[in-house]
Amino acid sequence: QTKKSGRNGFNFFAPTMSVGAVERLHLEHDLRLAMQRNEFMLYYQPQVDLHSGKLIGVEALCRWQHPQMGVLLPNLFIPMAEDLGLIDELGLRMVEMGCRQMMAWDQAGLQVPRLAVNLSVRELERSQLPQQIADILQRTGLNPARLELEVTESKLMRHADMAIQALNALRALGITLAIDDFGTGYSSLSYLKRLPLHRLKIDRSFIRDLTHDVNDDSIARAIIALGHNLGFEVLAEGIESREQAEFLSGEGCLEGQGYLYSRPMTADELQLHWQATLEPHLKPNAPPNA
Ligand code: C2E
Ligand code: MG
Ligand code: MG
Ligand code: MG
Repeated sequence: QTKKSGRNGFNFFAPTMSVGAVERLHLEHDLRLAMQRNEFMLYYQPQVDLHSGKLIGVEALCRWQHPQMGVLLPNLFIPMAEDLGLIDELGLRMVEMGCRQMMAWDQAGLQVPRLAVNLSVRELERSQLPQQIADILQRTGLNPARLELEVTESKLMRHADMAIQALNALRALGITLAIDDFGTGYSSLSYLKRLPLHRLKIDRSFIRDLTHDVNDDSIARAIIALGHNLGFEVLAEGIESREQAEFLSGEGCLEGQGYLYSRPMTADELQLHWQATLEPHLKPNAPPNA
């Protein structure tokens, strides 16, 4: 039931492919084993300043290197990990892996300003979470100001009362917080104002038809204004064309990520790719640095 994909020559499950009951049982069994065998890894997608194209951060995206099926995408196994009660452990491992990678890039001379890690709202329910994140920062040595945690808007709003406390405790560590997939979750604006957020990420469903669908143009414009009025940075996800990027930066959206700039890639690939673009003076024939 795997689908051949050209990307990296791996077999991918299409994210939309539904999993049958028997297959699901197998996968659940495999997922427990995968925790023991540490089969999870992070891909990293650059986040850029839309004006300069400069690297302002990376978003860490979890992948499961399944021994038979190849690289599996999170929409397939994160909900499963939530159901099986494995998400707490998996989430902490991803935060730690990402923090360690940031320190390794520092060592290698690639300064990635910020690491964003996705958090499942289920993880926020755990009262130990802030202390566990603090421990990871301590262990790895990453400056808390360089860590951002992202939570999906729709899930957050369904648990808003609980979330406010959890987010405040995380905020107190000196990390930043982002609301992910914004625009799809029916946010109560009064809640939004009370949440200690730094960044609002416009859902990519509004970016897709930008400059071709006047309704999406208006929605994107309204979300950017709303975010700024509430004091948040605004980042657009899923940017695939120059037209979209130009529209967004013209409307005052300063940050973005998407296939136009880069697909998610392994830590090594990211280092190769961005070291080259960030240090043109190291390339032969480039003009000397002023
Ligand atoms: P997300 O946080 O909204 O991440 C962005 C998703 O959009 C990623 O899918 C990314 O590969 C994809 N993407 C980026 N640029 C483009 C583009 O230009 N066009 C299109 N069509 N897609 C783009 P991915 O990696 O499959 O992740 C899906 C979701 O899984 C994430 O959505 C996030 O909610 C969740 N997720 C990923 N890693 C983790 C994790 O470690 N923990 C938890 N709890 N959730 C995770
Ligand atoms: Mg995200
Ligand atoms: Mg998102
Ligand atoms: Mg999304």
